[in-house]
Amino acid sequence: MELKAFKNEFVTSLSLIYDEAEAQQLFYIALEEVLGWKRVDFIMKTPFQLDKEKSSEFENVLKELISEKPIQYIFNKAYFYGLDFYVNENTLIPRQETEELVEWILNTIAENPSKTWRILDIGTGSGCIPITIAKMAKNVEVTTLDISEKAIEVAKKNAQDLGVSISFINQSILETEVLDLYDIIVSNPPYVRNLEKVEIKNNVLIHEPHLALFVEDDDPLIFYRKIVSLAENSLKSNGYLFFEINQYLGKETLDLFNKHFTNVELRKDFVGNDRMIRGMKV
Ligand code: GLN
Repeated sequence: MELKAFKNEFVTSLSLIYDEAEAQQLFYIALEEVLGWKRVDFIMKTPFQLDKEKSSEFENVLKELISEKPIQYIFNKAYFYGLDFYVNENTLIPRQETEELVEWILNTIAENPSKTWRILDIGTGSGCIPITIAKMAKNVEVTTLDISEKAIEVAKKNAQDLGVSISFINQSILETEVLDLYDIIVSNPPYVRNLEKVEIKNNVLIHEPHLALFVEDDDPLIFYRKIVSLAENSLKSNGYLFFEINQYLGKETLDLFNKHFTNVELRKDFVGNDRMIRGMKV
């Protein structure tokens, strides 16, 4: 089949799920992955006949996109903070708002560049938070914890591919009683309530790991309370606790922090939702 004609078919087939600009974008990503072509090649090298093998690769990508599989899972690739991460359906796809949390942590670390910061990340997933910190700040020692062995495998692969050395603990935070002492504890735990499911897009709902996303409606701060209480023994004095938070629970999270920490600050993300919080241990 001729490539330009195929592109039209590709974009039209996706029109029920994506708007045209998004569908075009997805085509160009597929073009890059399947043929190794840039957008400009598509304009220059025309007409172009797809051979059988490439046609069927494209068809497979299209089928997966129609099943609302995120493009990041189709090609096992996601970008975070300018770095390439491997992802699969055992880990969330890194989000832009989480980049903002990482930036806040990196700025905090930069305030004291001569100290070695010991950092614990809880619920690591693909490893985007701890690996980016270890990559961007040299004066850190990073440990991560996750309940999912499969997520840890992904995070280990990313640490190796990106050339950083961090430690991994495979256990549930809810069953963790004692840990070492850290300068920073950070977590992006599950925080979406079932009642918010209606707002979540199908591609997230069908394909992303529910273990990493959802909490019970009657106790949405379960991970937050647990980590706050762990911080009593595992955070150094003047150490910081950072969380990504549910945008609808800013007030509740702030109340929890104000009971236990000083210099508490709640920040919004790039779309203006309450999204992250930092407190300092007295
Ligand atoms: N921000 C993610 C989402 O909107 C949720 C991440 C989380 O639950 N920790 O899907």
